[in-house]
Parts: sequence; structure tokens; C-alpha cells
Amino acid sequence: MTANREIDDILQRAADGGRITPEEALLLYTDAPFHGLGEAADTVRRRRFPDGIVTYLIDRNINYTNVCVTACKFCAFFRAPKHRDGWAHPMEEILRRCGEAIDLGATQVMLQGGHHPEFGVAYYESLFSAVKEAYPQLAIHSIGPSEILHMAKVDGVSIEEAIVRIKAAGLDSIAGAGAEMLPQRPRKAIAPLKESGERWIEVMTIAHRNGLSSTATMMMGTGETNAERIEHIRMIRDCQDLAVANGYSDKAVETSHEVGGFRAFIPWTYQPENNHLKGRTQASNMEYLRFIAVSRLFFDNVAHLQASWLTTGKDVGQLALHLGVDDLGSIMLEENVISSAGARHRSNLHELIWMIRTADRVPAWRDTLYNHLKVHWTEADDPTDDRVVSHFSSIAMPDRKTLPLVDAK
Ligand code: SF4
Repeated sequence: MTANREIDDILQRAADGGRITPEEALLLYTDAPFHGLGEAADTVRRRRFPDGIVTYLIDRNINYTNVCVTACKFCAFFRAPKHRDGWAHPMEEILRRCGEAIDLGATQVMLQGGHHPEFGVAYYESLFSAVKEAYPQLAIHSIGPSEILHMAKVDGVSIEEAIVRIKAAGLDSIAGAGAEMLPQRPRKAIAPLKESGERWIEVMTIAHRNGLSSTATMMMGTGETNAERIEHIRMIRDCQDLAVANGYSDKAVETSHEVGGFRAFIPWTYQPENNHLKGRTQASNMEYLRFIAVSRLFFDNVAHLQASWLTTGKDVGQLALHLGVDDLGSIMLEENVISSAGARHRSNLHELIWMIRTADRVPAWRDTLYNHLKVHWTEADDPTDDRVVSHFSSIAMPDRKTLPLVDAK
């Protein structure tokens, strides 16, 4: 028992699967003893995933353009329209990268890009349908509410029409990108031209209603308060409540334990290089880890919690496995957006599996919907492909013909 009986009671209720209020989550975040917080979060993880499995994914983030009209202050990736360093890849190049990713074992692509002033719904339809036609086995887990709002605006169509059309064209799942901080004050401060947090939630709700499930993210460390961090997850939990209450489902997702809506929550930390916010305080490792644990306790309606080793580093990512996390995300065969802002961490398939196993968990390769493709019960089950390595913007240049294969050690 800790000295604070109220905190003990909240931790016990949350560990038992009870719902906690945003006020209680804030109290836990600021005042709960670290070990008690972690133990309660890990209890929730063990109940959800009693086999001790922690998953990983092989995917490639492919950027179709860096041209963007939204000019978020934290973004080091975008270039304004007509900027001499702006580019948009032709479809053949995107398909070439997809093919390369499949050769390295990828089951998913994340197609991400700026809000190009000329890219309406038809552009995304042609992008997704071309990828699906060439590589039907590749799940397209891509874009976010911001891109959907942008394409709908460019073409003057409703959000629902845009969603229905891009889903029909091949989009399998919406990535939770663009969430950053959903509450109004911090969002306006870092992304004044982006849609409001309420609008972000509204687009997700329409997508969920149309059978398109998603993940949800959060970027912490740009000057938001603790209360605003909790408000961010409150907005996402309420949105998921709606998905559950209305039975919005993605049939495939039901096989991996949950209904539709948000499959996973993925908090990550702001990277300060090459953007207008440079100099702001970043979230500390302790802030991140405490938030991971609180998220596991708060999200009684979201199945999976992912650690962002890319932004926090591998040691912190591994520690998070003891604070409620059940997924280490992707090896990221290519990543250009967050790495442009300073994320230097990279890994390879063997190391990711090693991180999971030495945290006393069972590694498993998963697909987009968290179905296990291979469980590595013992080292004899481990893959042997040495080529599956993270590549970041400094080396994954647009005009390379093949991915450079580098030693991640
Ligand atoms: S984060 Fe996205 S929307 Fe914002 S400036 Fe960068 S590319 Fe544009």
C-alpha cells in the first residue's frame, strides 16, 4: 500500500479492468508511485495478452510528396508549394518501393505525405488502387484525418464521400497521424493551420462508421500541460466509446480480439531538429514512460498499446514493455518524416526480436490487424534475413535504385 489511499484505490480499480476518469488519470500521471503505476499497467497487459506475446511489424513508410500548405511548426519534412526542394514521386517510384518492401518481408505500407494543393480524392484513389493492383497482399495503412479533410476540400466533396471512395480504391486502415495534440490550445500553438482536434475526431468517427478502422497517435513534448495530455486521450477514448456502442466493426479486426474503431494507441515524443519549434522542452523519458502506463490503464476500450522506440530510443522502448505495452511497432524499412526532425534510432529485425525476448516476452511477427504471422517461441523460430533493417531519410534518398543495406549495430 502506498501512503495515498486514493491513488491505491484508483490503481487497483484500473488494474482490475475498471474505468478511470480523466481526473483520476491525471492524478495517477502526476502523483502515483512509478512502480505501482507500472505494475497496474502491466497487470492490464497480462490480462489482455496472457501468453506474454509482444508483436512487431515489417513495413515501409513511403512518402508521395513533401509539398504541403499546412506548415506545421513542428514539421521538418514539408516544403511550401513552389519551394525548390519540393518533390512528388511518380507512381512508378512508389510502386518500385512497395515491391522492394515486399521483397524484404513487409506486409504493410504507410503512404504519407504533405497536403499538396493539387492532390484531391482522385489522386489518392489512383495511388491506392495502383498499389493494390500491383501488390494485393500489401495492407495499405495510411494517411490520417488531415489528409482526408484536405482532399475533400480540394475536390469540394463531403468527408464521407472521400472516405468511401478511398476505401473502395484500396485503403485498408487509417493511420492515426496528424493527431499531434488534440486539445485546442496546444494544437493551435504548434499547427495553427491544421483542423481542430474535434474535427480530427469527427473524421475518425465517420471512417469507423464506414468500416475503416484505424490507430491513434499522440505527439508529446511541445509545451502542452499534463492536463492537456490527459484531455487528448479522453477525446480518443470517447470516440472509441462511440465505435463500441454503435457496433462499428471491421470484421477482420474482430478476429484480433476487438471491434472496429481504434485498434491501437501510439504515443511518441516530439523531435526538435530542423523545425520552427526548435528549443522547446522535449518530453523526458520519465514523462513518456509514465504516460505509457497511464494510457494502458485509461484505454479500457482500445486493444493495443505501442511503444515508439524510434523517438525514445530502444532502451526506453524495451522498458515500456514492462509498463503495459504489447507492441513494438515496425522495423520501418524507410522513414523520412520523424527522422528529418532528429530521430536517429534505428534497428533491425534481429535486434527488435532480441529486445522483446530479453524483456521476458515472446516475440511475434504480426500484420496490420495484429494477427500473428509467426510466433518466435524459441530462437529456432527466428528469421534469418539480415537485410531487414531500418533506413532513414539521410540514406533512403529518392533516387536510389535499391535500399542500401547497412549494419544497424
Ligand atoms: S505535419 Fe503533415 S500537415 Fe503538417 S506540415 Fe508536415 S506534412 Fe504538412
